Amino acid sequence: MKKEIYLDNAATTRIRPEVVKAMIDHLEQAYGNPSSIYKIARENKALIEENREKVAKAINSDKNEIYFTGGGSESNNWALKGIAQSYSNKGKHIITTNIEHHAILHVCQYLETIGYEVTYLPVDEEGNISLEDLKNAIREDTILISVMFVNNEIGTINPIKEIGKIARERGILFHTDAVQAVGHIPIDVKDMNIDLLSMSAHKFYGPKGIGALYIRKGIKITPLIHGGAQERNRRAGTENIDSIIGMGTAIELATKEMPEEIERLTKLRDKLIDGILEKIPYSKLNGPRENRAPGNCNISFEFIEGESVLLLLDMNDVCASSGSACTSGSLDPSHVLLAIGLPHEKAHGSLRLSLGLYNTEEDVDYLLEKLPPIVNRMREISPLYEEFIKNNN
Ligand SMILES: *Cc1c(COP(=O)(O)O)cnc(C)c1O
Repeated sequence: MKKEIYLDNAATTRIRPEVVKAMIDHLEQAYGNPSSIYKIARENKALIEENREKVAKAINSDKNEIYFTGGGSESNNWALKGIAQSYSNKGKHIITTNIEHHAILHVCQYLETIGYEVTYLPVDEEGNISLEDLKNAIREDTILISVMFVNNEIGTINPIKEIGKIARERGILFHTDAVQAVGHIPIDVKDMNIDLLSMSAHKFYGPKGIGALYIRKGIKITPLIHGGAQERNRRAGTENIDSIIGMGTAIELATKEMPEEIERLTKLRDKLIDGILEKIPYSKLNGPRENRAPGNCNISFEFIEGESVLLLLDMNDVCASSGSACTSGSLDPSHVLLAIGLPHEKAHGSLRLSLGLYNTEEDVDYLLEKLPPIVNRMREISPLYEEFIKNNN
């Protein structure tokens, strides 16, 4: 069977063989509970700390500022709910953006139901917030600013360092959902004045269900999961050691290869974007041209629906996704595409292709060969397109 062409690396990435090996070696051999006192337990404790160090190094934090969690969604939930609770005597106002992942937006909506106020900053047509808007949104009772590092749908990279500077000057905590950034682009939490940062291993070729929250030293935060004394009393539960080893192994490799990988992916991405825009009329790039995640390509095609393109791509063994993070059963257009000003019908017509470690130039060529006839075919049966042609002839 022909191998699939996997162009959905923003949804998840394929785990690296080096990571699988490190995890299996451990899984088969070492089962000691790291909280116990005998040798096989102490060895596991040491392994956790060794891998914590690798994660810390990747974002220039201290080892003791890294807390392992069950993934990006948990890290985001913990950051927002934990800070909201521990700083509620200072205020109950939070600032975020309207293009965050649902693991931020839905938490904010929940916090609104229990007495918090949230300002959702709008974005321009490329997905950028305005720093002036941010400054104007800050109030006496603002306790937290949460702005994502890289948008998962359209690849916009936010000015994190500038946001961090504003937050620090005003004495407000700054959290960033960096799930799409960690392991992909350089991050320095000290230089960027980041107070809390969420990450997830399966977005950088590690296992699913493991992530971390960086919490700067000195910050008070209520735990999300109460129980045992693990993670320095802040996140209870016997550690997921095999996955922690997988995450540490993956982040070390990603960090080492980052400069070359950014260059390689940027070239592939630009070839993909230019090729699609050139070969397919009435197509439009969503998100910025520069200042964009190295692997992200998001394109709208007028007159047709993204979901139908996905089905035909699937028949050609291409895995991709539509701009909408379409939870099964719901065909709501993407909140991100609506926020950058796309009308409903175009927000439905978009396609996200996200490149990663295992993609080659052949993959891009294959897509550029298969996609144009698919879009043509869909347009031929589209009443919208028929009407457009009639009116323009
Ligand atoms: C994938 C993703 C998440 C969720 O991470 P999980 O580990 O799947 O829970 C959160 N935020 C962004 C930006 C993401 O891309």
